[in-house]
Amino acid sequence: MTNGLEFNTPIQFVPGVGAPRAAMFERLGIRKAIDLLFHFPRSYQEVSECKSILELEEGVLATVVGVVVDIDSRFTFEGKSSVGVLLAVDGGGYVRCTWFNQPFRREAYSRGQRVLARGVVKSTGVAYQMRHPEVTILDADEPPPPPRPRAVYPLTEGLTQRMLSSAIDAALPLAQNIEEALSEEIRRDAAMILKPGSDPLLPIDQALQQIHQPIDMAQADAARLRFVFQEFFVLQLALAMHRYAYQQEHPAPSIEANAMVHTRILKRFPFALTDDQRKVIEEVRTDMAKTVPMNRLLQGDVGTGKTAVAQYAMLSAVANQHQAVLMAPTELLARQHSKKLQDQLAGSRVEIALLVSSMPGAEKRELLQRIAIGTVDIVVGTQALLSEQVEFAKLGVVVIDEQHRFGVQQRATLRTTRTAPHYLVMTATPIPRTLALTLFGDLDVSTLKQRPPGQSRVQSYVLAPELMERWWGFVKQQVQAGRQAYVVAPRVESDDEKEIRGAVQWWEELRNGPLEGLRVELLHGRMDSQQKQSVLERFSQGSIDVLVASTVIEVGIDVPNAAVMTIADADRLGLAQLHQLRGRVGRGKHAGYVGLIPTVGGQDPVPQSDPEKIQWLEQFAKIQDGFELAEIDLRRRGPGEIIGTKQTGLPEFRIADISRDEQVLILARNLACQVIAKDPELKSPEHARLLRQVVAKHGKLMPVGDVG
Ligand code: ADP
Ligand code: MG
Repeated sequence: MTNGLEFNTPIQFVPGVGAPRAAMFERLGIRKAIDLLFHFPRSYQEVSECKSILELEEGVLATVVGVVVDIDSRFTFEGKSSVGVLLAVDGGGYVRCTWFNQPFRREAYSRGQRVLARGVVKSTGVAYQMRHPEVTILDADEPPPPPRPRAVYPLTEGLTQRMLSSAIDAALPLAQNIEEALSEEIRRDAAMILKPGSDPLLPIDQALQQIHQPIDMAQADAARLRFVFQEFFVLQLALAMHRYAYQQEHPAPSIEANAMVHTRILKRFPFALTDDQRKVIEEVRTDMAKTVPMNRLLQGDVGTGKTAVAQYAMLSAVANQHQAVLMAPTELLARQHSKKLQDQLAGSRVEIALLVSSMPGAEKRELLQRIAIGTVDIVVGTQALLSEQVEFAKLGVVVIDEQHRFGVQQRATLRTTRTAPHYLVMTATPIPRTLALTLFGDLDVSTLKQRPPGQSRVQSYVLAPELMERWWGFVKQQVQAGRQAYVVAPRVESDDEKEIRGAVQWWEELRNGPLEGLRVELLHGRMDSQQKQSVLERFSQGSIDVLVASTVIEVGIDVPNAAVMTIADADRLGLAQLHQLRGRVGRGKHAGYVGLIPTVGGQDPVPQSDPEKIQWLEQFAKIQDGFELAEIDLRRRGPGEIIGTKQTGLPEFRIADISRDEQVLILARNLACQVIAKDPELKSPEHARLLRQVVAKHGKLMPVGDVG
């Protein structure tokens, strides 16, 4: 190593760092010399190499372009020769270049010549000098060299860009010795798939050089591409290995819905399936026939008919003498599911049981027993309950409905006697494709896009204060026409400090004010389960006109006669949540209407809503598609916010950006699957380096025992 640095040289010994600054570097995660190489630029700034007179600094290397206006030579007292060339610098001012004992310089330049001079600047107080600069003669009309990109690094307090770049500069020769994890073949394949005819991805040493000190942006981009690919590829390998190992260790029962069973199940639906439902059901059917456990995420916007797919999966398990489980996020939803299944399967021999925490103990114990001996076919319950003590005789499939938060390791562990069940996880909070791939490279994704016929569109409006009176008039009108309405408030109780009205206060106000005379009732999460149940039942029977609720009704509530929803302080909710809420109306043959009330804040002169919030709500009102909204949320709030980074183990990327680098992500996933199909444990010697990276970065995802 030229400057004596090694990979593991502590950061304080890197030239120019020193003990006092070492702690600052460590705050950036840079502990050793090699860490400097992987401290990637945040962006680049185009900087011209050539300085104007005003930018020159004593003692600092600089480049100037100028015209030779005078040349002189003389002898010093000691008899040394000295040649001086005076430059009129572009943009104004002069710099004098001097050479000692190089008399030939006298003849080398002539007046009127345009030159580029590069040297350390000396200031004499009245003029600038460069001693022994490098000089290049330019053509008369030759432009100065184009600006070059300069890396801009993430910093921490006390460090400057210059300190970082000079430390990185010192460490850069180490790049020669770094092990290349990506074989030539992979680098070539990756580049070819991304853009046919392009050169292979850069080898590691060149990529490091170019990411820190690119000549132009094309070099920087090529370097970034390599690292983005590598980052995704290593993650996808880990996910693919994980999936492979899981499947090896946990065989599932093969559940084959033969033609007869298939037809019999479809006959139970009161409607013809949409093409999308058919397609997804086929995917589920194929998955469940295998002895590899199905691991499928079904995403479909509110109202796309996911329940039918769930029912299909469960009934095909039951038809094959296996049990099925349906887990819902709330007791309300569990009850609704159970009731619908009962209705649909009335007259059949299928045993359906509801398992919720509000059940009396004795009843619960008896039910658990029936589940354990296998006399119950379908168990519907909340996730909390089912994840713990339930033992199944012969569990075939687990359906998780309305899963909003996704964890890699979060999959419920249900005990069963012999085999692992098939899993179907359903969500109406569509995860953008990139996020699904990142988190669940080990999960298959099905999507329902099409809506069943007969659903009505939902119109959304942003309600300015002066429109409120008319809006409540409209709500009344709808109720008189036989419809029902929701009023949703983000909080249960008012918050005086923030001037937000809670559901309780809305309820008081509306039934004594604008909605007087209507049957207005209250529903919120702090009520006990029986109360909630009774209110919801009366609402779905139509004996309540207006339900004032907290966001408990967000998920899955299905009352087709409800047509109007008012959402107070709507801008306090996320796009996904608003979209979920909106999905509660327009479910039947009646058109749906949603009124969004922006938070009103500020006292003087009159309370006003924030224009930015109004604009944001207006954007939401215009967009009907949940997927589009999810993409916007992803860009606005970042992936961690959407799924909750902590629980999920969402990997943090150094350089890749899942919304920007989607194409590379998909490529990385495909290549990783190919590699793992051939070498499931990366055992072959050619994959040894890749394996080391996978273990180092994603050991947690690896089969137990491999973490090293
Ligand atoms: P989600 O995907 O939001 O769970 P649901 O499964 O609750 O949607 O379906 C929404 C509504 O559409 C339900 O009332 C359901 O009965 C109805 N539905 C589902 N599939 C169809 C279909 N193929 N044709 C007509 N109506 C359907
Ligand atoms: Mg649903």
